[in-house]
Amino acid sequence: MKLNLNIQPLNSWLNVKNEPLIISGPCSAETEEQLLSTAHLLAATGKVSVLRAGIWKPRTRPGEFEGIGSIGLEWLNKAKEQTGLPTAVEVATAKHVEEALAAGVDILWVGARSTANPFTVQEIADALKGVDIPVLVKNPVNPDLSLWVGALERINNAGITKLGAIHRGFSSFEKSSFRNEPMWELAIQLKTLCPGLPIINDPSHICGNRELIPYIAQKALDLDMQGLMIESHIDPSVAWTDAKQQVTPAALAELAERFSLRKPESKNEEFTDKLADLRKQIDKIDDLMIQKLGERMAIVEKIGQYKRDNNVTILQVNRWDEIMQKRSAFAKALNLDLNFTERFLELVHGESIRKQTEIMNAGKAEKGIAAEAHTEVKA
Ligand code: PEP
Ligand code: MN
Repeated sequence: MKLNLNIQPLNSWLNVKNEPLIISGPCSAETEEQLLSTAHLLAATGKVSVLRAGIWKPRTRPGEFEGIGSIGLEWLNKAKEQTGLPTAVEVATAKHVEEALAAGVDILWVGARSTANPFTVQEIADALKGVDIPVLVKNPVNPDLSLWVGALERINNAGITKLGAIHRGFSSFEKSSFRNEPMWELAIQLKTLCPGLPIINDPSHICGNRELIPYIAQKALDLDMQGLMIESHIDPSVAWTDAKQQVTPAALAELAERFSLRKPESKNEEFTDKLADLRKQIDKIDDLMIQKLGERMAIVEKIGQYKRDNNVTILQVNRWDEIMQKRSAFAKALNLDLNFTERFLELVHGESIRKQTEIMNAGKAEKGIAAEAHTEVKA
């Protein structure tokens, strides 16, 4: 199946200052000062092509900061005047669309929660009829490709041809190192359905923390995504929303400096294409292995605490024998070298023991003298 969208290529409607395309700005516009100072620093990096800011914030629970509202549009305009950066905001209702258009916002985006609701998307699409403005559609909160496609179709049917998608990850029931699971395959499927559709990656909302952003951003570029949307705040530690995942403009500049822009070396040569393809597969698996190791260690930590609280030894030889036997047999069935497998498992197990030892000792330090005194009384 191919998706029949009537769209214009990204470079015909967006002036990319510096490859890769970076859309950046605070999660939320908070104050005029915060928005303007962030915008100036971002513009000065020379790496940013569009200034983003949330004006109306969709929040999971009432009572949280729900966006500064219309006044923020005036600040955005000031930021544009002063820096020359085009602006982008999230719209979730027809009223948002009208206000953003009236204020001269350059690009609109549909947020993940809105994409999940066809009524909302249709309302936005209807408000866009007869308007010529670029619109970016974030993937829905849940991993449902049809909802994402449906939202793109609704906006496109309203006559919007300057269209793009934003991959911001998917909420998942399983605990993971990410705030939103990337599920790259869904973005790849969308690209396969509509090769001309630009897909911009949003590592900030995928990661939920600053530390992981470089890996996800680089991976998105390696997967040929057309750009990145990265949240940036003048002082992330005091941000009113998404504080953990925002980066300073300086950190953003450093991040952008380090990207490797990998172009397929020689498109004509079958050999190099195949090699690049195989490497991408390897990268994907390696990232998955690292992610899984991170998840394994998080469980190890829990086990460590549990053993500590129940006064059980760290090492239980029977359990270790069982792990070795079962995993080795599995590895053998997969044609993996036995020596390699054992060394790998020993390394992982060694690290688990180290981690648990740390936890046991931390526990001792916390309980301190009281715990020792208790043992003495028992003895
Ligand atoms: C945002 O971009 O600040 C935002 C609310 O994102 P999402 O819709 O992806 O959750
Ligand atoms: Mn945010």
